[in-house]
Amino acid sequence: MSGASPLREAVVDLDAITENVRVLRSRIGTEHLIAVVKANGYGHGAVPVAHAALRGGADKLGVADLAEAHELRDAGITAPVLAWLHDPDADFESAIVADIEIGVSSLDQLQSVIDATTRVGRPAVVHLKLDTGLSRNGVSPDAWPSVTRAARVAEIAGLVTVAGVFSHLSGTSPEADAAQADAFDLGLAEASAAGLDPEFVHLAASGAALTLPRTRYNTVRTGITIYGLSPFSDREPAEFGLRPAMTLRTRVIAVRRIEHGQGVSYGHTYRANGATNLALVPVGYADGVPRQASGAAPVVIGGERFQIAGRVAMDQIVIATGERAVAVGDEVILFGDPASGVPSAEDWARAAGTIGYDIVTRLGGRVTRRYVGQ
Ligand SMILES: *Cc1c(COP(=O)(O)O)cnc(C)c1O
Repeated sequence: MSGASPLREAVVDLDAITENVRVLRSRIGTEHLIAVVKANGYGHGAVPVAHAALRGGADKLGVADLAEAHELRDAGITAPVLAWLHDPDADFESAIVADIEIGVSSLDQLQSVIDATTRVGRPAVVHLKLDTGLSRNGVSPDAWPSVTRAARVAEIAGLVTVAGVFSHLSGTSPEADAAQADAFDLGLAEASAAGLDPEFVHLAASGAALTLPRTRYNTVRTGITIYGLSPFSDREPAEFGLRPAMTLRTRVIAVRRIEHGQGVSYGHTYRANGATNLALVPVGYADGVPRQASGAAPVVIGGERFQIAGRVAMDQIVIATGERAVAVGDEVILFGDPASGVPSAEDWARAAGTIGYDIVTRLGGRVTRRYVGQ
C-alpha cells in the first residue's frame, strides 16, 4: 500500500471501548460480563475490540458463529469465547479443540456436540439457550425439560460441562421483558431440577442490562454499549456515561459551484435553491452509507454541519455548502462522538430510518480501519 492517506476510514478509539466496558461493569455490577464482538465487532474490528474489552474487565467474549470464534482464537486470544448460532453441519470438533464454548439451542444440537466430544476425546463446554419468547434461536419451552435432562446425563458421563443457561429478550416493553424473565426463571428451575448448576446465567443484552436490573442475573451480554452507542433510539449514550468509539471520516476530493435550479446526483432529487458550492465526498452505499439517508443525513466539514444533497450513489455523495468555501482535501466527518460537535451514528440512523447498530455494522469492505489509543 502507498503511504497516502486512505480514501475513507473508520477511526476506532480503543480506549473508548475499554472505558465503556469499565463504565458498564461498574453500572451493572454483575459478576460476569460477556463482551459481544460478533459481526466483526459491530464493524469496529473483532480482534482489536476483543483486546480492548478484555482490558476493560470483560471476562468472556460472545460471537454469533464458530467462524467468528475461530478468528479470535487464530489471533491468539485465549479468553473464554461463546458462540451460539450454528450451521446444521457445524464443526463442533474443531470448536471443542479450540476451547470455544458452544451455545446449544436444540436436542439435535446437543447430540451433535456430544458426538463431537466422543470423537475428539475431550468434553465440551456448553451454554443451553432457552427461547423465552423471542421466537428465534433457543430450545422451545416444551423441549426444555428433555434437553436439560439429556445435558445432565452427558455431564455425569463427563462429555459436557453445562457452564451456562441463557436466553435473549425482545425489548418490546418492560412488561414483555418481565414476562420473558418469568419464563427464564421457570427454565432455570427446570434446569436445576434436572441437576444442572450453571456458572453463568445470562438473559440481558445492553438494553435490559442498563434498565432492567431483574434481568441481570450474574452475567450480561453487552454488545452495542461497548462501542459507545445506545441500545435505545430515544436515549443518548452519554446518559449512560458511554462514548462512541468509531469516527467515519474521509476528505473532499473535488469542489464546484452550481447555479440556482441545477440538479445534483442521480434523479436530480436535489435542485439548488440559489447558487451554491458543492463538495464531492468519496463514500457511498458500497461503503455502508445508507441510500435511505439520501438528502437527509448530516456531515461536518471544517467544523460546520451540512446535509447530503440528493441521492447517495454507490461511491459518492455530494454536500451543498452554500456560500461556505470548502477546499479539496478538507476533512469530512460523517459521524463520531457528538461531544466533539460531529453527527452521531444515531443521527445517521434517524436520517436513514434505522438504528445505530446498523450504521456501524454495515461499513463496506473499502473502508479502512485505523486504531487509536492503548
Ligand atoms: C447481538 C446479541 C447480543 C448483544 O446485543 P446488544 O443489544 O448489542 O447488547 C446479546 N445476545 C445475543 C444473543 C445477541 O445475538
